[in-house]
Amino acid sequence: MRLTRFTDLALRVLMRLAVADADLPTTRDVAAAMEVPYTHTAKVVARLQHLGLVEARRGRGGGLALTAAGRAAPVGGVVRELEGAGDVVDCEGATPCPLRGACVLRGALRRAQEAFFAALDPLTVDDLVAAPTGPLLLGISGGPPGRTAGP
Ligand code: SF4
Repeated sequence: MRLTRFTDLALRVLMRLAVADADLPTTRDVAAAMEVPYTHTAKVVARLQHLGLVEARRGRGGGLALTAAGRAAPVGGVVRELEGAGDVVDCEGATPCPLRGACVLRGALRRAQEAFFAALDPLTVDDLVAAPTGPLLLGISGGPPGRTAGP
């Protein structure tokens, strides 16, 4: 199974925010650290805010922060939410597969997909920034010189 770019970026944003200190990063800071376009990052941040995993704090020192729910979120649950419950294979596409009404493979692929999510469930977002990932993230995230205004 292959994650969408959107889901992969969402996990990277969550990891970056999990190592943030009191000097909260902005969306532009996160985009720069992850080397991805600002517009993609902004869409991902909006979705994570909608899910209650990230919040934008205003004022001096404001920026993006993980919520308590975001820090403790099971990675499998986040991926499940972002990827959706669709089939791994498009059995019902423009030319529906003739086997779709009684296909053993379809059921097996659904179970495999669920097993993929379930394997990620024991991990929380916080777990993803254990060493060596957390220190590496801090090293590439830049400091005050690269900081930009607004969340
Ligand atoms: S063979 Fe089965 S899994 Fe593959 S497209 Fe057809 S119904 Fe779907």
